[in-house]
Amino acid sequence: MQDHPLKLFNSLTRQLETFEPVHPGEARVYTCGPTVYNYPHIGNMRAYVFADILGRTLSYKGYKLTHVINITDVGHLTDDADEGEDKMEKMAAERAQSIWDIAKHYTEAYWADVKALNIRQPAHWSIATDYIDPMIDFAKSIADKHCYELESGLYFDVSTVEDYGRLARAITEDGEGRIDAVQGKRNAADFAIWRKTPVGEKRQMEWDSPWGRGAPGWHLECSVMGHALLGFPFDIHTGGIDHREIHHPNEIAQNQAFCGCGGLGEAANSGARFWMHNNFLVERSGKMSKSSGEFLRLQLLIDKGYHPLAYRMMCLQAHYRSELEFSWEGLEAALVRLKRMVMAVERLADAQPGAIDHPKFAPMLDKFDAAVADDLNTPIALTALEEALAVKKVDAGIKRAVIEHMDAVLGLSLFGITRADLRLRPKGAQIEEVKIEDALARRMAARADKDFATSDALRDELASKGVEVMDGDPLGWEWKL
Ligand code: AMP
Ligand code: ZN
Repeated sequence: MQDHPLKLFNSLTRQLETFEPVHPGEARVYTCGPTVYNYPHIGNMRAYVFADILGRTLSYKGYKLTHVINITDVGHLTDDADEGEDKMEKMAAERAQSIWDIAKHYTEAYWADVKALNIRQPAHWSIATDYIDPMIDFAKSIADKHCYELESGLYFDVSTVEDYGRLARAITEDGEGRIDAVQGKRNAADFAIWRKTPVGEKRQMEWDSPWGRGAPGWHLECSVMGHALLGFPFDIHTGGIDHREIHHPNEIAQNQAFCGCGGLGEAANSGARFWMHNNFLVERSGKMSKSSGEFLRLQLLIDKGYHPLAYRMMCLQAHYRSELEFSWEGLEAALVRLKRMVMAVERLADAQPGAIDHPKFAPMLDKFDAAVADDLNTPIALTALEEALAVKKVDAGIKRAVIEHMDAVLGLSLFGITRADLRLRPKGAQIEEVKIEDALARRMAARADKDFATSDALRDELASKGVEVMDGDPLGWEWKL
């Protein structure tokens, strides 16, 4: 039932490949984490829902998982290429606050979203500023052969490694249109691995190094933490698709330099066997941009009354490599779907889980396994779960075990939440439930009398208070705020 070989799409080869672990029985995964200068938006969280599904799938397939997610609290500039200011320094200056306080606040906010989305805790949350010494050692070991010093820092010469930029594919002579504002760079795509603090300036975060006082480059962090916690090569490196263009090619170049490896025809030379990228969550009006006032963070969804797992469901309904467009209607549909599942599961709550190898469930279990093994096809896996829920005249304990088995991968917490948890509960809603129930009862009576005018009037009255009556709701006579 779990015998479909796990196939994953490797961005390095642009192909589906069968997963074979570097260390038998183990899976070691590194996920580029957030830069904690602001709240994550829900697009960022899609990247971690994806990484979580990957991790859960590896566990389900029997591998002993070691997952690392880093926290970037230094080094990420306002532009992924080498321009601009450090995002953390910039925010701290704007707020006249300490960087450490900012990092702490937003790391905790991120962790709260991780928890709300039922993303499992990785084995390590690696914090970039805890790895400054190993970063300096790493840079020292590659500096002679692969780097050169300019006034502004130590730069990596991308022409010193084979196949630079293969992951991005689109790299051109001028380094993918990057503006070469740093005087003296040998190649437009060269990047700083150590940034010197300009003379006369003082940064909140700076350390001594052989190249002067300064701070590490963002790309250096991930190479070093991946190596320190997972070894070289490890199995899978993940991130959002934007990282495929600059951040990951640069990490790969550093890794090749560090291990003295050859070209990328051999994936392991990149530092990881697989590079996997989730596509973007998009939103038309630009509310995902952190620079706009009210951007789409998970808390906004919660404030509008949506249970955060509705957003997880929304993510799972799309394949991770497809773009996903956010809309409130889409979120609502995901909530209704989740609610249906939770209601079906409530009937199984008292049953003792039994053995799953029952012939009635074999087709769904097989379909489920084939789906997740096919590059994490969660949209199909969800339908397998729904088909299992619909099986009739079967022992509740067996059904419960089957659903738990599937939900261990999907992480919808179906046995951990109730229908009541999923009721829309906007923050600060002023209306009393009894009054709503009363108006609804009067409306039902009017409809029974075929008095549709009264019924519609009551509906409008409720609507004016923000209560939407949900006729024809498959889940029963319902309302929502
Ligand atoms: P950052 O904090 O900017 O480093 O981003 C954290 C993660 O979110 C990275 O893996 C990004 O690639 C990913 N990401 C950024 N924007 C989106 C988006 N709109 N949809 C999905 N993933 C995103
Ligand atoms: Zn990274």
